[in-house]
Amino acid sequence: MNLSGPRLPSLDALLRLPEMADAVALHGHGAAVLALRTVLDDCRAAAELPSPVDLAARASARLADLARPRLRRVFNLTGTVLHTNLGRAVLSDAAIAAATMAMRDPCALEFDLDSGGRGDRDSLVEGLLCEQTGAEAATVVNNNAGAVLLVLAALAARREVVVSRGELVEIGGAFRVPDVMRAANVKLVEVGTTNRTHSRDYEATIGPRTAALMKVHASNYRITGFTADVPRAEAARIAHDAGLPLIEDLGAGSLIDMTVFDLPPEPVVRDCIAAGVDVVTFSGDKLLGGPQAGLIVGRKDLITKIRKHPLKRALRVSKMTLAALEATLIAYRRPDLLPRDLPTLRHLTRPIAELEAMARRLVPLIGERLGSAWTASVAASAAQVGSGSLPDAAIPSCAVALRSVKNSGRALAALAARLRALPVPVIGRIHDNALLLDLRCLDDEAGFAAQLEHL
Ligand SMILES: *Cc1c(COP(=O)(O)O)cnc(C)c1O
Repeated sequence: MNLSGPRLPSLDALLRLPEMADAVALHGHGAAVLALRTVLDDCRAAAELPSPVDLAARASARLADLARPRLRRVFNLTGTVLHTNLGRAVLSDAAIAAATMAMRDPCALEFDLDSGGRGDRDSLVEGLLCEQTGAEAATVVNNNAGAVLLVLAALAARREVVVSRGELVEIGGAFRVPDVMRAANVKLVEVGTTNRTHSRDYEATIGPRTAALMKVHASNYRITGFTADVPRAEAARIAHDAGLPLIEDLGAGSLIDMTVFDLPPEPVVRDCIAAGVDVVTFSGDKLLGGPQAGLIVGRKDLITKIRKHPLKRALRVSKMTLAALEATLIAYRRPDLLPRDLPTLRHLTRPIAELEAMARRLVPLIGERLGSAWTASVAASAAQVGSGSLPDAAIPSCAVALRSVKNSGRALAALAARLRALPVPVIGRIHDNALLLDLRCLDDEAGFAAQLEHL
């Protein structure tokens, strides 16, 4: 090191610069010191000697960047309605209002307003869940992965659970049935083959150490061709004949029959209970259209046992979740109004003509902003439910398709990046040499159009 040459200014000298005054006022003295120290360290490491004013600017930029929220609103124009990476279900106005109340004001979370005594937070939604599913009892945890873990730990720890080889699924984000079993201290016993499992496979496997039979909804893949599986009613009969419960992880699990809205079929929780499944688990933020939660419904004695397990306390949901979940479940009491009241159902059921009209309005606006290197056109698109629901079941949709006149893949990726850099980032999908902006989930057309000037 050359001690006689120019040196970096001291931290104190930088702090006293008028150029640092705003940053100190905005972010506080402690944060400003930390930012300056980091910037000085970086310069030392890179053997750089910027001016004091430049150093102050770098520290201020660093402070502003750290203060900027990372969880940003985006426009989901991917065509995937329940996009896990974009937060899955968006909540209804009623759910948002309920969650806001629970955040702002004290609320009767575990307080019985009739007796004035202690209440139970689960009881807030148990009645609604039982009404909507036909189950005897219900409880709620943080997410469906937690629900599966808790059910297995409470009902089968140190014993065996029998699962068909065709149902040993992996869901995105490292949820694998065999791993969850291990974490719950349950021995997984695989039966049948990947493509065919028969009643006799289950019957031959049940032994003195068997705690339960389990079915897992193969949500994100399908086995086709020469296949056989044991319907849940038959699996329930086999379990009950052996004095065992049948557990089912439904994944998305709907409370209503989606086919009445011309949507791809998904198993209905009520049908599982009616078929004799003793405990059903499903997600709150998939097809249900509510907050992240794991819902557990079923036989009263089993739910009581599940509730008493220590993991239940570790996985319990917040008051915001319960408030939003309760409001979402109340909406299901009027299934005919769901396409109006629940954004997930609204997005899934929006008429294609409405999307086409919106595309025709947006195409000229976008085309004008992008200039002559691009074409914008109305294009048919295939949306999907997402979150592991039927990946091959497309929902007809409509998109604005953006194509580079030079047909350049790199230009397409660059355009996608420009759209992500907008004040409200726009997330589309690249398909067939075009950047598709699928309009199925676009609610705020005016807000989307207004920010095109930043493009
Ligand atoms: C999505 C899914 C899960 C995980 O649910 P989370 O609510 O995301 O924890 C578990 N099992 C199946 C079959 C699923 O589809």
